[in-house]
Amino acid sequence: MNNTFTMAGVMGWPVAHSRSPAIHNHWIRKHHLNGAYGLFPVPPTHLEAAIRGIQALGLAGCNLTIPHKVEAMAYMDWVDPLAQRMGAINTIVVQADGALHGFNNDGFGFLQSLRDAQPNWRADLGPIVIVGAGGAARAIVVSLIDAGATEIRLLNRTHHKAQALAQEFGTPVTSFDWSERHEALAGAALLVNTTNQGMHGEAPLDLSLDQLPTNALVSDAIYIPLETPLLQAARLRGNTTVNGLGMLLHQASPAFQAWFGVTPEVTPELRKLIIATF
Ligand code: NAP
Repeated sequence: MNNTFTMAGVMGWPVAHSRSPAIHNHWIRKHHLNGAYGLFPVPPTHLEAAIRGIQALGLAGCNLTIPHKVEAMAYMDWVDPLAQRMGAINTIVVQADGALHGFNNDGFGFLQSLRDAQPNWRADLGPIVIVGAGGAARAIVVSLIDAGATEIRLLNRTHHKAQALAQEFGTPVTSFDWSERHEALAGAALLVNTTNQGMHGEAPLDLSLDQLPTNALVSDAIYIPLETPLLQAARLRGNTTVNGLGMLLHQASPAFQAWFGVTPEVTPELRKLIIATF
């Protein structure tokens, strides 16, 4: 241990539910680092002042969660081009000269979660169906395009949002009407739910899996519950499933590396620790 105390945290509103402190403080302990990761409840009216305070307080940086991921970009000195395409940042890293750099690691976390389930997974194995067109969908679509996806079928209850994303990203993304969602699964190699449907307290996603090949991978960004009705239905018909916990844990890794200088591991021990908080 040296004398430097490294501090980071997450800004959100509300933020008390965030599992990020449990993740980062586990890694701080594991690597015997001198530091801490805290919760910063920051209402939208105070976001700019709070972000300006990061440097003044000597923080290494911070994470951003709902509702700050888009607004925070305006207060950065530099935004990573990947995050610019995703239209949001979830990580701020203070540079040696005090400049604030913004990143988005959600897409990285998502891809890692698929590779945990199938180490040989590739984005070009066949058509990919994404349900939803919100913030999580944007990060996931960009990461899948960069990973080499050849066909991405985007479905959203409000069709014009899926259309707008398809237009913005171009090939390989096409949008489908919500009424076509069941048939859009035909021949797919990967299905991803990025809506809140199936989350604790929400209705299950209204999607029939009849057309989905049984060798398709089925992923859900939701992690409470760990097995959504969608993932349960997929598992029961033989599909391999991936819940949202891996995405949550893996997105934290590049931020931790940037702040603390150590590349942490997503271990079964960490998974257990976080599941115990649900
Ligand atoms: P968001 O921007 O608010 O988007 C919500 C999406 O859900 C929209 O596409 C919306 O469609 C759709 N939706 C809402 N109600 C629906 C319904 N009744 N039927 C069909 N679609 C419906 O939210 P987000 O930030 O993308 O987050 C979405 C989910 O991803 C949440 O469950 C969140 O917890 C999860 N997430 C997980 C991680 C992780 O690390 N695992 C990271 C980020 C997000 P409309 O456009 O029609 O409203």
